[in-house]
Amino acid sequence: MGFMPVRSWWGWGTIENRVTGSEKTQLLGRVTQFLDGNELREHLPPPVDSLGMSPSRITPPAALAHLASSDPHDRAGHAHGKAFRDVVRNLRGHVKSAPDLIVRPECEADVLRVLDWCSDSSITVIPYGGGSSVVGGVEARFDDDRLVISLDLERLNKVIEVDQKSRAARIQGGVLGPHLSDQLRAHDLTLRHFPQSFEFSSLGGWLATRAGGHYATGPTHIDDFVESLRVVTPTGITESRRLPGSGAGPSHDRLFLGSEGTLGIITEAWMRLQKRPTFRAGASVSFTDFMAATEAVRAISQSGLNPSNCRLLDPMEAFINAGSTAAGGVLVLGFESHDHPQDARLARALELCADFGAEVQPMKSDGPATSADTWKSSFLRMPYQRDVMAAHSIIAETFESACTWDRWPEFYHAVTKSANDAMSELGILGVVTCRFTHVYPDGPAPYFGVYAAGQWDSLLGQWDHIKSAVSEALIKSGGTITHHHAVGRDHRPGYDQQRSNLFASSLRAVKSTLDPAGILNPSVLIDL
Ligand SMILES: Cc1cc2nc3c(=O)[nH]c(=O)nc-3n(C[C@H](O)[C@H](O)[C@H](O)COP(=O)(O)OP(=O)(O)OC[C@H]3O[C@@H](n4cnc5c(N)ncnc54)[C@H](O)[C@@H]3O)c2cc1C
Repeated sequence: MGFMPVRSWWGWGTIENRVTGSEKTQLLGRVTQFLDGNELREHLPPPVDSLGMSPSRITPPAALAHLASSDPHDRAGHAHGKAFRDVVRNLRGHVKSAPDLIVRPECEADVLRVLDWCSDSSITVIPYGGGSSVVGGVEARFDDDRLVISLDLERLNKVIEVDQKSRAARIQGGVLGPHLSDQLRAHDLTLRHFPQSFEFSSLGGWLATRAGGHYATGPTHIDDFVESLRVVTPTGITESRRLPGSGAGPSHDRLFLGSEGTLGIITEAWMRLQKRPTFRAGASVSFTDFMAATEAVRAISQSGLNPSNCRLLDPMEAFINAGSTAAGGVLVLGFESHDHPQDARLARALELCADFGAEVQPMKSDGPATSADTWKSSFLRMPYQRDVMAAHSIIAETFESACTWDRWPEFYHAVTKSANDAMSELGILGVVTCRFTHVYPDGPAPYFGVYAAGQWDSLLGQWDHIKSAVSEALIKSGGTITHHHAVGRDHRPGYDQQRSNLFASSLRAVKSTLDPAGILNPSVLIDL
């Protein structure tokens, strides 16, 4: 048997990859440079047997018993998603919402059997892919004592069929990012969808939350890669026809994209694939003024050049995560193709940047590390580092949105002001950072980070205060409550404000058809 890494029950990723030694010392040193006065005492995760979880109240039918687990470690690991407040609650031993059972179907017929059993027995089902939700999407947070199972789809993890000619594949919903990549690599193909949570999130989870990959323009949301979906609902199975496009009425697939486990289980999808890129060109570009930098990005997003990476970091984000001191921030620019060289496209994008006072740093594979290199390697470590900060009472969390370009400067000022004001009200020292994760011709999708010196005993309340201030500012300034993190339970109040009542009742009507007993992920998106 090969080495099997152990998943952390309380934080991000695997135990083996946690931040230790000099990485930890340097991280805390860097953060305390601008968060002077933080408590900095480390809080270790409690042992699972000290969590005081009540015993499971569900006995599965004999035919499903081999798929079910009531192991306390398993239940604790499925109690929360992976947001900052999830990690803090785990570290504090507040694991009140553990599901009674984890059920892991091995095939689609198992999923049908589980939904039948749960509909008949009034058991709530929370679909679970990688469990990387940051919005309370996989948490059994209810104010009654209903019976709950977590339906973990990890065993539905195969690429079943590849159509080389149309460049598409039929893939099971539970497959995690790296395993999917490995299976597609054998066919020299890629889905080219890389959210930061790639390692520990699943195809079905991406589809159910309308996830965004880290490509900056062109196809970015998972929606753009879907050819057809197969969904198991408590009422039956529904599947769309494989088509490159169709004008036949409202889209079947769009009903389930973003349905967050409330309408059915996405067991399979035909996904559009791409050839693995071989031509690449990139540069990192420093600016002296951040608003000028955002104008350069607007010019690029409206030029038709479609860079695969167009990630603008504001000065604080560039300093913390890319080691750059550029006064107006850094733009990480990248182009790629499997078919033709990209240098001409890069050159034109750099001309556009020069119009806004940019200074260019070419990316070289053999030269000294550029801001882009430093940022890329810190990108995958960020969630591990976030956990270390949480354990040291440092508030380290993100929120994201999108708005149209005409609103952008006011939006940015209003949102950062709301976060800064909230920290002042709490009397805590902190900084707000911003980067663009995606840019569209008609507007950016900004992603904000908050780093603040919290106090262990009031850490959750402090973050909740900041989060509710910024959520209000996002909606008030004409943005969305989420661009790609989904709605879950945490963003319900913002989502309810931004959608129309008539749309909400139409969604409820669909839910009552597909899930009449209301067993699927109640309180996410809609209430029956
Ligand atoms: C460190 C970190 C970085 C992140 N970076 C990104 C990012 O770059 N881009 C991005 O978009 N998101 C990001 N996220 C958020 C999260 O990873 C995404 O929402 C992701 O799509 C969730 O996938 P999952 O498989 O982990 O789903 P889960 O967390 O298991 O579930 C999410 C929701 O989908 C439902 N669900 C899961 N699987 C299915 C299924 N097969 N059928 C029906 N419903 C299902 C669940 O019930 C739940 O409501 C990040 C999260 C973390 C912790």
